[in-house]
Amino acid sequence: MALGLRLDNVFLGEVPVDPRADNTRRQVLGACASRVKPTPVRAPRVLATSREVMALLGLEEGAAATPEFAAVFSGSHVPEGMDPWAACYGGHQFGRWAGQLGDGRAISLCEALGADGQRWELQLKGAGPTPYSRTADGRAVLRSSVREFLCSEAMHHLGVPTTRALSLVATGEPVIRDMFYDGHPEAEPGAVVCRVAPTFLRFGSFELLAARQDVETLRRLVEHTLRRHYPALGPAGKESCLELVREVAARTALMVAHWMRVGFVHGVMNTDNMSILGLTLDYGPYGWLDGYDPTWTPNTTDAAEGRYRFGHQPGIAFWNVVRFAEALHPLIQDIPALEAAVEVFTSAFDRHHRDLTAQKLGLASLDAPEAQTLADEVLDLLPRAETDMTLFFTALTELPHGEAATTPDEALLAGFAAAWYDADRARARIHHRLLPWLRAWDALALPAPERQARMRAANPRYVLRNYLAQQAIERAEAGDPSLIHETLEVLRRPYTAQPGREAFEARRPEWARHKAGCSALSCSS
Ligand code: AMP
Ligand code: MG
Repeated sequence: MALGLRLDNVFLGEVPVDPRADNTRRQVLGACASRVKPTPVRAPRVLATSREVMALLGLEEGAAATPEFAAVFSGSHVPEGMDPWAACYGGHQFGRWAGQLGDGRAISLCEALGADGQRWELQLKGAGPTPYSRTADGRAVLRSSVREFLCSEAMHHLGVPTTRALSLVATGEPVIRDMFYDGHPEAEPGAVVCRVAPTFLRFGSFELLAARQDVETLRRLVEHTLRRHYPALGPAGKESCLELVREVAARTALMVAHWMRVGFVHGVMNTDNMSILGLTLDYGPYGWLDGYDPTWTPNTTDAAEGRYRFGHQPGIAFWNVVRFAEALHPLIQDIPALEAAVEVFTSAFDRHHRDLTAQKLGLASLDAPEAQTLADEVLDLLPRAETDMTLFFTALTELPHGEAATTPDEALLAGFAAAWYDADRARARIHHRLLPWLRAWDALALPAPERQARMRAANPRYVLRNYLAQQAIERAEAGDPSLIHETLEVLRRPYTAQPGREAFEARRPEWARHKAGCSALSCSS
């Protein structure tokens, strides 16, 4: 028994596995994974753990302080009973088929039973090269590891479907990165995150097999997926495969509707980053909206095209679901049925998005045309002068019922002052339209106290603003991980006002407007 984990490895026993177990970079045919050993690191040091994920996996809180924990979750020691692997998958990157990609720096250690009875896959990110590393080093830098660790836990506490993070371990080894691909490589501290999900299978896991016309391996992977992750759909067959497409479409729609609710921009919605369980997966150059701007993308690689900009995410998710459906075509062979199945995305997204928008606005629903108009108007209004999304909705949530009708204009607007990045511009472009909007909204929204309860549950006060993550990173790079802990602590209760933590609610400071890591994120990680 490793560290007290209840190991229950099933994946490698149920899918075809590469017969080779060395790290030579190669094309791997006829297999879903390759056995691989993580590469030990010089001086592993645990920087942070998630207490909820520790408990989920049955690990004592004190376990994180043991040398064994640091060794296992940095990939330096593989305990008895673990049989690590790297998964083989492909993907569409920025709209183009990219062929084999695979876990180039992720190594799954094991599957373990959680306190909830669920089987969880534990995966190290940054634990050294695999057959899928292509020309890269298999490592991850501290800055991107802090970002993945904090954001996956923050998303969980926000109620957004996501992979989880157990631990963040510094490796004590430098990693060379050219952050902006401009000929300035630098040594940065390395780290390994242990992330946790029922599975890390992606759309691309299926797409690669379909692209290679390897129908037998595809069938085995689908059988495994149905048995372990969608048991309610029954054994593999045309109908259950179609149902799988519908389920994946519906879950992906729910995930993206939540992203839109909280202001999250994934940044790299390639099909190799789309979870088969509809979980937010692969936290890279993601970002959070400060000013509400549907055209914003944090990813510098995507800045020109804006393919993965905030407002484009539902359309891209649908495009990705279609790629997944195409990958299952060899097992279904019925194009009209597949076309109908992917449409589940559209109806599910529409339903969830409308429900969540109604919740954010404290409306019973968006069914009445006046309600839909209110929602459309406010989202059209906010970008007219940079308006902080989180602060705007917090201010709206806290506006007492009936206040809009009786309060003079200036006093009513004062409640929103923190949300404007440029007060003069807001005055010129937004105020005159917001005032009648507020009064119409107050009259139509639910009465107190339901209104506030509903809005408080949908509008977070605390999100992992890009500059907050960056501050925690800079402190950690200087040797002090305490701001990671404090940030995680705040983000564990994102819907609750936390006196003394006002700094975590503040809108983006001006110094962060154009700073690397705060407004522009590169894929280099
Ligand atoms: P991403 O954009 O992070 O989803 O990565 C796309 C592909 O590149 C995946 O196959 C990754 O495993 C691979 N990759 C990214 N960074 C590295 C790295 N440092 N070493 C090896 N493979 C990597
Ligand atoms: Mg990826």
